[in-house]
Amino acid sequence: MKFLLILFPFITAIAFAQQKQSYLLQPDRVFDGTEMHEGWAVLVEGDKISSVGPKESLKASKDAQIISMPGTTLLPGLIEGHSHLLLYPYNITDWDTQVLKESDAYRTARATVHAKNTLMAGFTTVRDLGTEGAGYSDVALKRAINEGIIPGPRMIVAGRAIVSTGSYGPKGYDNDMQIMLGAEPADGNDLIRVVRDQIGKGADFIKVYADYRWGPKGEDQPSFTLDELKLINEVTRSSGRYLVCHAKSKEAMRRAILAGAETIEHGDFIDEEIAQLMKEHKVTFFPTVAAIDAIQQYRGWKKGTDEEPAAVKQKKKSLKIAVNAGVTIGVGGDVGVFPHGENVYEMELMAEYGGMKPMDLLKSVTTVNARALHMENEIGAVRSGLKADLMAVRGDPSKSISELRKVQFVMKDGVIYRDEGKK
Ligand SMILES: [Zn+2]
Repeated sequence: MKFLLILFPFITAIAFAQQKQSYLLQPDRVFDGTEMHEGWAVLVEGDKISSVGPKESLKASKDAQIISMPGTTLLPGLIEGHSHLLLYPYNITDWDTQVLKESDAYRTARATVHAKNTLMAGFTTVRDLGTEGAGYSDVALKRAINEGIIPGPRMIVAGRAIVSTGSYGPKGYDNDMQIMLGAEPADGNDLIRVVRDQIGKGADFIKVYADYRWGPKGEDQPSFTLDELKLINEVTRSSGRYLVCHAKSKEAMRRAILAGAETIEHGDFIDEEIAQLMKEHKVTFFPTVAAIDAIQQYRGWKKGTDEEPAAVKQKKKSLKIAVNAGVTIGVGGDVGVFPHGENVYEMELMAEYGGMKPMDLLKSVTTVNARALHMENEIGAVRSGLKADLMAVRGDPSKSISELRKVQFVMKDGVIYRDEGKK
């Protein structure tokens, strides 16, 4: 009995220490989500950032662990704005085969590795834009991460996503066969039921394909009418959620924006008129440049040698129009089309295609993305009171965005997942 009495306070002390572990992080500089500050440090207590400022102004308690990171830049944990953790590169296995021949269980097993690679690359949050035929495996993956069973980023998920009847793939099989689709088809008033059903099964927001390549010549054409999109938006909003739209063609973008979509995904055919409409309606544009670039290379384009394919030229044109018009631009590469963990590729291409500057890209991948996810009061900045989601890289990414690949340190919710300085 005496033994127990002695032991008990000891155990609680350990539990308390784990709960309230504090760290004083000392990089060379801190990017706070808006500006770069030389000589700043960050104090973390438990799962929150408790203070940030010039090194000499921070007072750490005596039990705080000091982590000195010379030569590094500390940033908010990066946010991937458009991922598909349930997919992997199409040059390994094409999309049709992943959707039709791989079980949800197999795909989820692979996704656990994708989630880990994403987190280790410094992306502590992802907005996942649909499982593409793997049901609600994203909801299950998110749960396993939140419960600490597997390492991975904080996930905001779409679930199955919605398409109009007849538009989406896989396609080209004998009509006698019932082929499962990469998303859930619904039309007209039935959209009310489907939106509510997806929400009930765990969708954090609703993702809709406002167009698809089902025009008479295989071109992108709108799938839903304006009224259908408005109906989806109304039902989505009344549940406290928001609508995001896949849209490439001008008309689909116009309808999506007017219906109330908060983000436009892809936007290949943005012109000056659509760019203005996006600004007017405060829409965030996710250009998914990397997906186009990767797919063209999978199809045989030798980048740097061959002439640019039409799709690449069009993407450059639309991104430049959006940048010049001052449209709010987020970072989301459609990662899954290319390897998870290579998320920085999107930012490198946003610089290459659209001439975006490193500081603007850093703001996009933190502050802008956090706002697009309605999470600006939790993540996306190094500010007292926010979640302790932080990452550090060797070098200075405000000079070259590729420095973000040199990951030194990753922390999520105050827990360290990677620390190269310790090795
Ligand atoms: Zn996508």
